[in-house]
Amino acid sequence: MRKKIAAANWKMNCTLSQAEDLLNKLATAQVNLTTDKISIIAVPFPYLLLAKEKLASKANVFVAAQNCYTKKSGAYTGEVSVEMLQSMQIPYVIIGHSERREYFYETNQVLADKVNIALEHQLQPIFCCGEALSIREADTQNSFVEKQLKDSLFHLTNEQILSVVIAYEPIWAIGTGKTATSQQAQEMHKHIRNVLAEKYGNEIAQQISILYGGSVKGNNAVEIFSQPDVDGGLVGGASLNADEFSIIMNALN
Ligand code: PEP
Repeated sequence: MRKKIAAANWKMNCTLSQAEDLLNKLATAQVNLTTDKISIIAVPFPYLLLAKEKLASKANVFVAAQNCYTKKSGAYTGEVSVEMLQSMQIPYVIIGHSERREYFYETNQVLADKVNIALEHQLQPIFCCGEALSIREADTQNSFVEKQLKDSLFHLTNEQILSVVIAYEPIWAIGTGKTATSQQAQEMHKHIRNVLAEKYGNEIAQQISILYGGSVKGNNAVEIFSQPDVDGGLVGGASLNADEFSIIMNALN
């Protein structure tokens, strides 16, 4: 059975003391997680070890990085490698967030390289895809997202694709307070699963978690997560408040 996941993306937020406070609150939050219903907290690089330490006793909560570089090591000032993340036993890394695509010009090919090197180092990619508003208005979102998946993931073997978590995040819904309707989310998630099934077969497609991201909040998580092909969410703004993110984690049930 595929996992249901409530993933937090703190983005470039929190000072050290704010991060400590948020992690302390998450560590004592009343949440019902199981091996099939997990939470992943993607913190800025400087707080990875702190997050691991603070959340160590919290069952079924994992720490993620928000990005990685395409190279294993070397003269790439300012970058962070998967080798470093692996050495800190970080299990997940977000790859291809729309903010990375937009502000750092990460192409589908660069993202394919990042997915490859992450998998080579036993890190599970949380691979983000999703269309801009203009693409949604032109009603070409299905083919657009399909191309993102094909270009960056479809060279993977059956075994490798099973280690990937997909996050569908319509750009027009990220940080805007404008959520896709649960019907729009379900339609796209079903499309993504169909595209995965065409390439890898239905049995594999059914095992891949597909998260929705875009203004998920405590008051809409239950409805969005209840869609048959929505396996949880990737949450930005609302993940910076421990009480609200706890509601979102509990919405997995
Ligand atoms: C995100 O950062 O991936 C995201 C979905 O942000 P928000 O929840 O704030 O829209």
